[in-house]
Amino acid sequence: MNNINEDNHLCRVCGLYVESSPWGDDGKCPTYEICPCCGVEFGNEDYTIESTIEYRIKWLNNGAKWFDCKDKPLYWVLEEQLKQIPREYKQNP
Ligand SMILES: [Zn+2]
Repeated sequence: MNNINEDNHLCRVCGLYVESSPWGDDGKCPTYEICPCCGVEFGNEDYTIESTIEYRIKWLNNGAKWFDCKDKPLYWVLEEQLKQIPREYKQNP
């Protein structure tokens, strides 16, 4: 079970926990910062569910590379992080 406040810290594209809420505490005020993992600009490519899914597919097809490799954890597991994506932004099966 996810609580709403925690979801506010998760990248909608890749599920990374981001210290400063990508979309603000109310989920409506994007910071326009770049996700160090998938490289999405919060408030831009993740503006709609469709564009979020589209960006994620492109990122995964490119090998799911970290935008900022110095932030990449030593034992990073893509599949684990993808599980954290807020449910409404996951692709429909
Ligand atoms: Zn991301």
